[in-house]
Amino acid sequence: MPQPEAKSSKPLLKRISLTTWIFIALVLGVVVGFLMQGVPDVAATYIKPLGTIFLNLLKFICVPLVLFSIICGVVSLDDARKVGSIGGRTIVLYLLTTVFAVCIGLLFANLLNVGAGYTLSTEELTYEVAESPSFIETLVNIFPSNFLDPMVQATMLQVIVVALFFGFGIMFVGEKAAIVKDFCIAMSEVCMKVMQGILYMAPIGVFGLLVPVVAQNGPDILGPLMWLIAVMAIACVVQVGIVYTGLIKFLARRSPLAFLKGELPVMSFAFASASSMGTLPINMECAEKMGVSKEVTSFVLPLGATINMDGTSIYQGICAVFIAQVFGIDLTLGAQVTIVLTALLASIGTAGVPGSGMIMLALVLGSAGLPLEGIALVAGVDRLLDMLRTTVNVTGDGAVAQVVDAMEKRKLAKGGRS
Ligand code: ASP
Repeated sequence: MPQPEAKSSKPLLKRISLTTWIFIALVLGVVVGFLMQGVPDVAATYIKPLGTIFLNLLKFICVPLVLFSIICGVVSLDDARKVGSIGGRTIVLYLLTTVFAVCIGLLFANLLNVGAGYTLSTEELTYEVAESPSFIETLVNIFPSNFLDPMVQATMLQVIVVALFFGFGIMFVGEKAAIVKDFCIAMSEVCMKVMQGILYMAPIGVFGLLVPVVAQNGPDILGPLMWLIAVMAIACVVQVGIVYTGLIKFLARRSPLAFLKGELPVMSFAFASASSMGTLPINMECAEKMGVSKEVTSFVLPLGATINMDGTSIYQGICAVFIAQVFGIDLTLGAQVTIVLTALLASIGTAGVPGSGMIMLALVLGSAGLPLEGIALVAGVDRLLDMLRTTVNVTGDGAVAQVVDAMEKRKLAKGGRS
């Protein structure tokens, strides 16, 4: 495109990429948040709505985006076996990364003695434990009993199931369903365009989400739980720096640095919003920008935003050890294995919205025989922990999408059927 000759400020602003803008907004959000600590109400009243509007827009586009993308993904694979192959790989990778995550959480929590230096005071134990669903309930809840309900409630796992059924339906009907297929393809394109429009507001959204959180919580909140937050941060860095970069380097055979750079807007937004579901459209956009095929992004990422919560699993491992240490309970190896298994299930059942990981923590603590009241100890810093775990959650989805894409492309290059 020819550049205008006049040296106005517009071209300079335009030359800064959206990624950089989001990052600038992140830093600015933290700085302004700290400056507004004396007036958190002002931040909540006047700045928070900017973030809420942006998050609402992302949530609104999420359901049609996922519905039509997955239908198109299935239809474009035009072979049930290919859907099975991508689906199978995706699920295995999601399960493996989650097992790694919870093990890393447990390992660091034990090694670094996460509960050290924390003394329990009895007034802290007044948390009302929200009920978390059982495994069977989680399984049954995947299947909708109504077509519209999942769309209205935005229960994404059910939306995915509806999309898969319709995708296969269109595929098997063939020629007669051509008009429905074209409609879905067109709708998917329209949703992508709408989403791109919404994403232009991402820097404002990040700023609006972050300022009130920092202004309200401030550094005092860290206090006695500083070590817990530090251990969580270390484990998250290890998960991203070793597990995901390892996946990208050895399984996808791509550059980990390029991946992390391309994923930066996704990570920034996840950190600010603490919502995997809200970050899903950005993750899809960035993955496609990095060259991941549409058929992979449209299937792997929505599924990941729903069932793959590696950061949440790290958090659950660490919190379990923290609570055990604080209450002076010896966590046996058997109990830790139980934690790995239940954290895996909890990861599937955790909704990609702020705070849901803490509700699922009850399931993990209960399975290991730990006191549920312990949740009260970590509830005060949950938002901060949520920001960290959501960042890892979405990065894990992005990494798996890269691997599945690379594997599919290698298979295709070899001339093999998927
Ligand atoms: N907020 C997290 C997410 O959206 C879920 C959680 O609370 O752990 O991925």
